[in-house]
Amino acid sequence: DFDLVADCVRRHARRDPAHPALVAGEDRLDYGALDACMDRVAAALQREGLGRGDAIAVCAGASIAYAAVFLGALRAGVAVAPLAPGSTPEALQRMVADAGARRLFTDAACAAECAGIPVPRTALDGAAEAVGGPALADWLAPAGSRPDPVAVQPGDAFNIIYSSGTTGAPKGIVQGHGMRWAHVRRGRAYGYGPSTVTLLATPLYSNTTLVVFFPTLAFGGTVALLPKFDAGAYLALAARLGMTHTMLVPVQYQRLLAHPGFDAADLSATRMKFCTSAPFGAALKAEVLRRWPGGLTEFYGMTEGGGTCLLEAHAFPDKLHTVGRPAEGHDIRLIDADGRELGPGEAGEVVGHSPGMMTGYHGQPEKTREAEWFAPDGKRFIRTGDIGRFDADGFLVLFDRRKDMIISGGFNIYPSDLEGRLAEHPDVAESAVVGVPSAEWGETPVAYVVPRPGRAVDAEALRTWLNARVGKTQRLAALHLIDELPRSAIGKVLKRALRERHAGG
Ligand code: ATP
Ligand code: MG
Repeated sequence: DFDLVADCVRRHARRDPAHPALVAGEDRLDYGALDACMDRVAAALQREGLGRGDAIAVCAGASIAYAAVFLGALRAGVAVAPLAPGSTPEALQRMVADAGARRLFTDAACAAECAGIPVPRTALDGAAEAVGGPALADWLAPAGSRPDPVAVQPGDAFNIIYSSGTTGAPKGIVQGHGMRWAHVRRGRAYGYGPSTVTLLATPLYSNTTLVVFFPTLAFGGTVALLPKFDAGAYLALAARLGMTHTMLVPVQYQRLLAHPGFDAADLSATRMKFCTSAPFGAALKAEVLRRWPGGLTEFYGMTEGGGTCLLEAHAFPDKLHTVGRPAEGHDIRLIDADGRELGPGEAGEVVGHSPGMMTGYHGQPEKTREAEWFAPDGKRFIRTGDIGRFDADGFLVLFDRRKDMIISGGFNIYPSDLEGRLAEHPDVAESAVVGVPSAEWGETPVAYVVPRPGRAVDAEALRTWLNARVGKTQRLAALHLIDELPRSAIGKVLKRALRERHAGG
């Protein structure tokens, strides 16, 4: 059972051309116009000689034009490398070259950082001069153009997504059409259909967004894009559109619940909320369930596609401290540092086999091999780099990323343990614990704490409070107060930045 997202859009366009497909601010595009635009994008790419095996790159804010170009390229069998605006010009240039992208679609806001990249450019927002290439409207094939049909295969690259770089240099993760289709198929469980209105306020270059974006369109629903997240704007839009589905990262849930207008906002049409990408505290999940109607499904997984667990939080209120159980057709196991599979109840690195796994890291067979783990029977798994343990009911409890685990005097310290303890203190809004070099212990834990608004916190007193509650080997060497934790554009706490901050004094 395999289909193409672009073909699904065509079917919806034939059935109900006036049904809205994409909404962003005052702009909207119905299925008929989206399908026609996709044809013009695909035909324009073919005119340039692009097809299966080729790639384009996009570096721009979320917009209808972005979405239409993405989908149009897929129709031509051309893979899309969606890049993160705000990356350095060097990083962008490296990614465009790595992906082998033959054209770069960008906009006025990203023009400067893309200026030195030596591939032809198209301005998604019409800012031809700033971008240094034709406006989209002038680049598209003429209205009414039809591309030559392309027999896209499940193994063809759908997109090349550069990993967040949370733990190192970004790697180009190649996802095939088959892998994307596996995500779409899973969408059947969430009630997507033509009446779906999915509101997305995370960037289009992130898999977090795309795992909901493509299924919504494949099932004929409407995607509304909010290019810059703002809690007030999100709530107003959700109410106005009658939002039924959404994907948010934990820090966005936190901001929404803290917004003074939250309880008065009309979110009654909500059927399903999704969350992924970073640890989602049990208390926060409970509050979302209490104050926001509809279901809440948390995904635990990675862009590479190994190891999707999901927690239907509304159905398992006593499992909110877990990330749930393996999704259907997924096989999640735990291995030790030597790559041996662990028995029940033991903690180790999570590895996952799923119907949607990356083909590999683009042009990095060595890195791909490092990311793979093969079961004794030859079954292929992807290593997640995360440490976890299954509870007696088969729910996965995650501790930390292996790279964030602190080894102090030979003992393993999980930062999440200490962060969990700190969260119990009434003056603590949030915290992050990192390991820093120590002459005596090798590494030692240091905490960065964001106090609750209006609370005067004494760092030394808080450190003493915590150290009295944890094992001797877990004691904090230092505790720093901080206004805000450094986060990536997708809301992940950047522990690397905290370690550098500590090193810099
Ligand atoms: P890089 O690989 O470049 O360091 P990244 O791992 O942050 O970047 P992603 O593929 O976006 O890139 O994120 C996957 C990771 O995010 C997982 O390995 C896990 O650490 C974390 N994660 C995802 N979902 C959850 C979740 N529900 N709870 C806790 N952590 C999660
Ligand atoms: Mg990763």
